[in-house]
Amino acid sequence: MTTPIPCKAPACSAPALSGERHCFTHLEDPAGYQQRAARLIESDTDLTHLDLSSVRLKDRTLCDRRLVGTSLARAALDQVVFKRCLLSLVFLQDASLSGCRFVECRLSAVIMAGSELRDCRFDDCDVEHCNFVAATLAGTRFESCDLSSSNFISSTLSKVIMRDCNLYQAHLELADLGDLSTPISNIGDAHR
Ligand SMILES: [Zn+2]
Repeated sequence: MTTPIPCKAPACSAPALSGERHCFTHLEDPAGYQQRAARLIESDTDLTHLDLSSVRLKDRTLCDRRLVGTSLARAALDQVVFKRCLLSLVFLQDASLSGCRFVECRLSAVIMAGSELRDCRFDDCDVEHCNFVAATLAGTRFESCDLSSSNFISSTLSKVIMRDCNLYQAHLELADLGDLSTPISNIGDAHR
């Protein structure tokens, strides 16, 4: 585990972003950071413990990657495809995901609280113990996924399909389920 380096700005206690001297707020060259962060994501296989908060990524495919303890808070991911990736304790809170796909991925304790997922797809993924608290999911489809113990409390699910999914002990309390549909899933085993 790497210890975060503090931001060099006076009186700032936030950690510096990976490869940078500053936190996102105090970056001197935000455009340069976006380029460096995107390059890092493309090149490095192991993204463990990197802080790439607020990164913007578009039209990328990441295959067989490991993201453990990685911070992608407030990231904007557009048409990003994750194939056979491991995402464990990934901080994706307050992020925006549009048209993203997760295929045969293992997501464990991924934090997407307060995030917005539009037109995303999860196919054959383990999505266990993930946190979607107060997230907004629209036009998003989970197909043959294990969503057991994932937490959708206070989320808004609009035009969301969970087909052939394991919803055992998934938390849907206080969620706006709108027109959630759950064909051949065990919705009766979820907390509502
Ligand atoms: Zn700072």
